[in-house]
Amino acid sequence: MKFDGRVALVTGGGRGIGAEIARTLAREGAEVAVSARTESEIDAVCAEIQNAGGRARAFVADLSKPEEPARLVARVTEALGRIDFVVNNAGIGSSAPVGRITLDEWNRVFTVNVTAVFLCTQAALPAMIERQSGRIVNIASVAARFGARYIAAYSASKHAVLGFTRCLAAEVAAFGITANAVCPGFVDTELVADSVARIVAKTGMTPEAALDSIRGQSPQKRLLTTAEVAAMVTLLCSEEGRGINGQALVMDGGGLLS
Ligand code: NAP
Repeated sequence: MKFDGRVALVTGGGRGIGAEIARTLAREGAEVAVSARTESEIDAVCAEIQNAGGRARAFVADLSKPEEPARLVARVTEALGRIDFVVNNAGIGSSAPVGRITLDEWNRVFTVNVTAVFLCTQAALPAMIERQSGRIVNIASVAARFGARYIAAYSASKHAVLGFTRCLAAEVAAFGITANAVCPGFVDTELVADSVARIVAKTGMTPEAALDSIRGQSPQKRLLTTAEVAAMVTLLCSEEGRGINGQALVMDGGGLLS
């Protein structure tokens, strides 16, 4: 299989996009460290992978705590021997007009969406440089490439992920390592279900109308599937993907054309 002998760390692997990335990399032969705060969710994803004949281990970590990313990387390396792919997927949404974003909320979003990406990557990098191989895949968002009303904290955090990814790619290119950002539009996950609930609460729309308004933001009038995002991550982790470095891979059905 493509990833036999490889170890992948997937943050935010308990549900949604991260769970699908974990399942997909495991199907391709990688041993997967599945991490998030909710033990029951990462245990369930690992059980599913194991039942399908794959290899996975759960690691509880709260990446909003500054010491946790490095501790997580150390625990995974000790337990599984190495980390070949870091998929920085854990992330949180946030929605408010600029005037109502509190400093606490701004910091909460940046700590998980940006600082944890930096710290997980920094901790995993020395061993990758020593081995002269590795992949960093950061799940950003198409909101890393444009601005819109009420998503300033989220969009700024994802722009920061993209800036970090590009600079990192330049630094690691000579060491057989690549760093890329995947930038999906709306994906069918709980994060979008939360957005639907917020729209319903704020506008009085029906849930179906709210979901339609989200689908309507894509020229394809649909949500992406988690499998589509996982397929992109698989490509970026593969040998065939080694020429792709420092890129923002937009997956939004053709909405952002630049
Ligand atoms: P989700 O269903 O809400 O899952 C988020 C994952 O991150 C969960 O496993 C969650 O687990 C984990 N997480 C959150 N806070 C954490 C923390 N402090 N420490 C460790 N883990 C934490 O979200 P998703 O939709 O799959 O999104 C995954 C990524 O894709 C995010 O970075 C998001 O910004 C990005 N994205 C999503 C969409 C979309 O439409 N869904 C579009 C573009 C980009 P716990 O709560 O158990 O910790």
